[in-house]
Amino acid sequence: MKITVDTDLCEVHGDCVVAAPDIFDIGEDDDVVQILNAEPGEEYRKAIVQAVKMCPVAAIRIEG
Ligand code: SF4
Repeated sequence: MKITVDTDLCEVHGDCVVAAPDIFDIGEDDDVVQILNAEPGEEYRKAIVQAVKMCPVAAIRIEG
């Protein structure tokens, strides 16, 4: 699967980092979320689906 974040939408709420800390990260100076692993294995799908649901601006997309 492939993960993308619409950086125009992302408001750095951080909910995705809480849901999937192996996939998303926010540093002190970041103005958009960082994707740590853009093509994660299936074992991460549950956490990423949770991140998609939690994102308040629906910025996260899963392909595949
Ligand atoms: S939850 Fe959504 S808005 Fe918040 S940091 Fe993640 S992608 Fe950005």
